[in-house]
Amino acid sequence: MLSEPPNASLPTSSNPLLAPVPLTSGSQQTLKTEFVCSGVGLHTGSQVQVRVLPAAIGQGRVFVRVDLPGAPEIAASVASVHQTMLSTELAQGEAKVRTVEHLLAALAGLGIDNARIELDGPEVPLLDGSARCWAEAIAQVGVIAQTAPRQTYTLSEPIWVYEGDAFVAALPAPELRFTYGIDFDLPAIGNQWHSWSPAQENFAEAIAPARTFGLAHQIEQLRTNGLIKGGSLENALVCGAEGWLNPPLRFSNEPVRHKLLDLVGDLSLLNLFPCAHILAYKASHHLHTQLTQLIAQRMKDEEEG
Ligand SMILES: [Zn+2]
Repeated sequence: MLSEPPNASLPTSSNPLLAPVPLTSGSQQTLKTEFVCSGVGLHTGSQVQVRVLPAAIGQGRVFVRVDLPGAPEIAASVASVHQTMLSTELAQGEAKVRTVEHLLAALAGLGIDNARIELDGPEVPLLDGSARCWAEAIAQVGVIAQTAPRQTYTLSEPIWVYEGDAFVAALPAPELRFTYGIDFDLPAIGNQWHSWSPAQENFAEAIAPARTFGLAHQIEQLRTNGLIKGGSLENALVCGAEGWLNPPLRFSNEPVRHKLLDLVGDLSLLNLFPCAHILAYKASHHLHTQLTQLIAQRMKDEEEG
């Protein structure tokens, strides 16, 4: 059972909190108050309750495993990346949290810099497979500006990672933009591209509703390997040779928008968005987090001169 976030049919276009915003500058922000959401984790299948609370300036976003002795904290930063097989897992010592990308994308996409994320299990719930519930919950409780500026970073030289014909690149640009391409043999997906500028379109409407997708012929294999125990036609779009098993789609290019959502979440592990154009093709959490790591290293090198 999923708990519906408060007021799930929020009129996003009339909510000033959801106006398009450049995410690369301005004041740090946190939530006005806390919210709670619960559901099942995609990979572990376990029922988890998540409580997201405001946090002080400079705290960043921190996961807290309240079910473990001493309630260990795991910073949502690139240094905590533990593994990236099908989803992004963070760890600090023995404490781990899996499938963080959709919640982190919603927080970052709605401009939340500081938040405490308490959860009583090992994986963030998948909910409907998108970031819509998270984005609506954040918009519902509201966002407040804090009395300190965001750290900013303007990329001056391109950085890229690639593997075969897959890549993620960051290129110097006057404002933040994400562009993503995918290419699948299945005709229902095929070749899709999407480009998103946070200053022109808000995350909640343009990106957050895009759901996780899977290929019917790979699902059995993933289950055999003990993965996607919590996956179902309720929380992922599934595509077969004959087309989608569970239409309708929310966007004609919903799959590539979902990949872009994952990229936003993974890149947010920098704890800021660089002023840059982030361009990805057929990439994965592995490549997304590698690029994030390289940008973090570049920032550190430049700071040290
Ligand atoms: Zn995803």
